[in-house]
Amino acid sequence: MSNKSQSLQVNCPTCKNVVEWNENSKHRPFCSDRCQKIDLGAWANEEYGIAAEPSEEWSGDSSFTTEPSEQTLQ
Ligand SMILES: [Zn+2]
Repeated sequence: MSNKSQSLQVNCPTCKNVVEWNENSKHRPFCSDRCQKIDLGAWANEEYGIAAEPSEEWSGDSSFTTEPSEQTLQ
């Protein structure tokens, strides 16, 4: 039984700083509160970007064409 204390390290998605993945890093995987907010802000902006609703004009004609009936045999 070896109780190995593995110190996992990740890189902050915002500034690429090395962040230790432990209880002390409250904002992991970010290095700081600032970086976390920056990333969340960017994400929110993207969310707003795709808010445009598709104004697809739907014409009333049927999209499916009438299939040719099998009239090979007379
Ligand atoms: Zn950072």
